[in-house]
Amino acid sequence: EAFSPSHPQCSWQELLQVPDDTSLSSFMLESVHPLKPQYGVPCLVEGQTGRKITIAEMRARTAALAAALSTRYSIGDGDVVMISSPNHVDYPVIVWAVHALGAIVTLSNPKFTKYEIMKQARITKATLLILHSSVITTISSDLTQLGVSTDRIVSFGDIGRLWNCSVEDLIAEHHSKNFSIDHSVNLGGDRVAMLALSSGTTGVPKAVKLSHRGLIVNILQMACHIAQSSIKGFNPGDIVLQTLPIFHVAGFVFGMTVVVTEQYDFLRMLEDIVRFGVTTLTLVPPQAITLCKHPATRYFPLDTVKMVFMGAAPVSEDLSRSVAATVPGAQVGQLYGLTEVSCSLSMTHPEHSSIGSSGKLLPGTEARVVRFDGTLADFGERGELYIKSPCSALGYLDNIDATRETFCDGWVRTGDEVLLTSENELFVFDRIKDVIKVKGFQVAPAELEGHLLGHPDVVDAAIIGISHPYSGQTPFAFVVLREAAERRTEKAEQAAVLQASILNYVSERTAHYKRISGIRFVHTIPKTPSGKVLRRTLRESWEKEKARE
Ligand code: AMP
Repeated sequence: EAFSPSHPQCSWQELLQVPDDTSLSSFMLESVHPLKPQYGVPCLVEGQTGRKITIAEMRARTAALAAALSTRYSIGDGDVVMISSPNHVDYPVIVWAVHALGAIVTLSNPKFTKYEIMKQARITKATLLILHSSVITTISSDLTQLGVSTDRIVSFGDIGRLWNCSVEDLIAEHHSKNFSIDHSVNLGGDRVAMLALSSGTTGVPKAVKLSHRGLIVNILQMACHIAQSSIKGFNPGDIVLQTLPIFHVAGFVFGMTVVVTEQYDFLRMLEDIVRFGVTTLTLVPPQAITLCKHPATRYFPLDTVKMVFMGAAPVSEDLSRSVAATVPGAQVGQLYGLTEVSCSLSMTHPEHSSIGSSGKLLPGTEARVVRFDGTLADFGERGELYIKSPCSALGYLDNIDATRETFCDGWVRTGDEVLLTSENELFVFDRIKDVIKVKGFQVAPAELEGHLLGHPDVVDAAIIGISHPYSGQTPFAFVVLREAAERRTEKAEQAAVLQASILNYVSERTAHYKRISGIRFVHTIPKTPSGKVLRRTLRESWEKEKARE
């Protein structure tokens, strides 16, 4: 047991009891949960227009869309609906409408290429795609190749109503009929609510099965933590700026009044803080770096901001100090977590957190720190973090081996090297798992290696993450060429052409943040006898070479 916070009304054990028939949609729309705006306070504010949206309006739109998805597309129990969109005030409406029908959502990065969208639709077995009009515009000529028939694609976001059927049309058609949502179809909180992509400790991205109960309990855990600490910025009347993408599990869980803007833009963010009197910010480290370094920051009064949370990737002590100096009126904190536990595991506790720590484990979370020889570490000693939590995912979809590797006897292997103090404070040092984090986004080396191997001149390849002062990390490639191609690299000019051709080949197939930042041609890739790439060896050789330069 991590610790036992008190809650004004009840103990955390009671608070974390979620009735079996509570779905995320009924929890968000019907129940009075601790992070929900109070009656009369807008739930969402549309950044561009300043339009305020109440819970009653969201409920009505959700009911209308649920009715339309059921009658027009026969969406029901266990069906998977994929959503690819930037942040939008109707995004949660779509998610809850799908949940209200007992169906499952899979949320996709709107910057994905057609290959990535196709792959996500395939591994999650999505049968209906709801694509924002900006996504439809980007991949317009390839829509027929997405693996679902075009009459199972619904457009969303009203830039020109590009498609034959849009979410806005569906809502308008059914809105006047005053449907109410029948939440009784959501049988049991342990049902899958969302299939989120994560590569786990190793391999290519997989679909993580997140349950309704896990997602709800994670919100309640945070509420408990907030209630028993002096964290500011999460009280009725507080205003959160939605700077994280809703498609990521970290951007999806929210409460209070949330200002939603489609595209993150730094200057726009500063303007919105002032315009809406934002009290609470959640930033990934690169956004926080810009906040501290950009010359425009000092022209915007940020005195409404009471809380700045950072997370999704390592946050240095220096960065925490700089943010505190830049926004002197605000508490500065960290959130740490991972998709496999429905988002958050630890959160800063203002009274008991040291600078640089990832905070305290959330109530109801058990932790084990395991030394690299497999024995249990003591408090204050580094090792890999294993977690037992009521928010653990139900495993990876259709992938027994990966599920066994990460989810074992109720414990989740985080793949993170940490230290836990006897006061329950967590420090995250390094990633033992393969995944690279670029601006807080996951990049799976195995996925990029798969693309590299598709290039006609490449016979073997390995990807490592190298540190980057702004993005945190970027992918770097070691490539073994076919003999004929290797001969060409003797001339520097031809080697450069070959490099460009390989980089181009991969970047055509992947979203921008996965771009490989450099290539080194090598004769072999170091591997274990079982064929596993020795990434640590590659990283060490890269670091040595950099040090020599
Ligand atoms: P994701 O599943 O995409 O949320 O990625 C989770 C991973 O991001 C964790 O396992 C960590 O490696 C990293 N991460 C998240 N938050 C933090 C943090 N506050 N400090 C260090 N690493 C973090």
